[in-house]
Amino acid sequence: MEQTQIDALRARPVAAFDHLIEGKYVPASDGGRLDIISPIDGTVMTTTAAGTVDDMQAAIASARAAFEDGRWAAQPPAARKKVLMKWADLIEANALELAVLGVRDNGTEIGMALKAEPGSAAGTIRYYAEALDKIYGEIAATPGDILGMIHKEPVGVVGAIIPWNFPMMIGAWKLGPALAMGNSVVLKPSETASLSLMRMAALALEAGLPPGVLNAITGEGRVVGEAMGLSMDVDVLVFTGSGATGRRLMEYSARSNMKRVYLELGGKSPNIVFADAPDLDAAAKVAAAGIFRNAGQVCVAGSRLLVEASVHDAFVAAVAKASEAMRVGDPLDVNTHIGAVNSEVQLKANLSFVETARAEGGQVITGGGRILQETGGYYMAPTIVTGVTRDATLSQKEVFGPVLGVTAFETEDEAIALANSTVYGLAGAAWTANLGRAHRMVRAVRTGVMHINTYGGADATVPLGGVGQSGNGSDKSLHAIEKYVNLKTAWIKL
Ligand code: NAD
Repeated sequence: MEQTQIDALRARPVAAFDHLIEGKYVPASDGGRLDIISPIDGTVMTTTAAGTVDDMQAAIASARAAFEDGRWAAQPPAARKKVLMKWADLIEANALELAVLGVRDNGTEIGMALKAEPGSAAGTIRYYAEALDKIYGEIAATPGDILGMIHKEPVGVVGAIIPWNFPMMIGAWKLGPALAMGNSVVLKPSETASLSLMRMAALALEAGLPPGVLNAITGEGRVVGEAMGLSMDVDVLVFTGSGATGRRLMEYSARSNMKRVYLELGGKSPNIVFADAPDLDAAAKVAAAGIFRNAGQVCVAGSRLLVEASVHDAFVAAVAKASEAMRVGDPLDVNTHIGAVNSEVQLKANLSFVETARAEGGQVITGGGRILQETGGYYMAPTIVTGVTRDATLSQKEVFGPVLGVTAFETEDEAIALANSTVYGLAGAAWTANLGRAHRMVRAVRTGVMHINTYGGADATVPLGGVGQSGNGSDKSLHAIEKYVNLKTAWIKL
């Protein structure tokens, strides 16, 4: 990755984005535009269409028509595979351009963005393209005079609502399996990070996806997202984002056509360090990266550090040292470890969590404030708060920013009780050299993902999904396909 290439791309003006409906770029029905602010310096870099309810309905109608006439669903699997493979190739061929565009929009440090965004999006789409002609129906164990067959049919029109932290990666988690199974999709990117995903959607059409099979609408969640949620013609809604929005989507479903709703929500993931961890220094560095990369805007971020009391002080000092060695700043500088916070609103929310933590008796041992204000961008120092009690706000509420709360524990049972003391259950980790303890932790901590002696990092082959108020259903792996198919029984008398 060359800094000069990145600098050349960042100097390019960004064209205004319109909706993508039926293979055409279309402005908002009322001409409305939304300013897109770069978190790097707080300037307006371009605009997108500010979608209306009519725009969303037009996109859904187009997707429905595309599904019903079979222009995609009825294509032979090999033909669908070819298009999706080509799409993955195009994403890879344009990876740096996509990554820089995305970073200008959402602030993720470029090193991480390049790998996690176009890199992982291409990998995910290829994974489902490769899988699509290896997924079979079933023949049931029926009496001899009956043939019982179970077909897997596409659901129809999928609505996909995407957050701002990793738009291409999370977008691909939905688009890959949905399109592979023959569905049509209406995409609704986040208003604060839509550009790279809109560009990635356009590449799908370039790869040969028929018009109307993938439509994309920009604009505010409470307008176009709500219209999607309330639509009578969306069959399945897949969502990644906050719990508050997830709750609304379930209400929209109940108030409309009872569409299936799959939610990937937030977390308050415990990173549990036992004194018998194989390498405490390595664990400290991974713990710092596990909360502070992408300025903490990672759903699975290890935001609660639970440390065995006997090593607490030394371990926390090592995490503080590792975090202070991480360079915060311009996310398009290849040497930056921690980029910008996505928006001013998010930055203010992060800072207010630190104030609350102080008021509730926590000690801020490093960071705690906004930095680099002179850039006009939204940057925050990695922040560590010790002495955080089990019921403190910092233990219970997701910050979604670079703020780590630390709590000491004495016993394995206490660690498990602390780990399970929130409404969330997305991810977690335990660091121990004791094999029995490692397996006990995997079983005892209620999460969708449990890491042992590492934090983060997983590929398309394994599911990611939450329990409790972290969501339902899973992204990634062959299990994700269940969300995008209906099972149909054929009961045939022979
Ligand atoms: P958000 O809920 O504010 O927005 C997510 C999306 O929902 C956006 O596209 C937004 O426009 C849309 N939206 C907002 N209001 C809506 C409404 N009334 N109806 C329909 N759509 C609406 O979340 P965010 O701030 O973009 O993302 C951060 C959250 O996402 C965090 O809680 C984070 O933990 C979570 N997240 C979870 C995962 C996961 O896999 N579990 C991954 C990444 C992020």
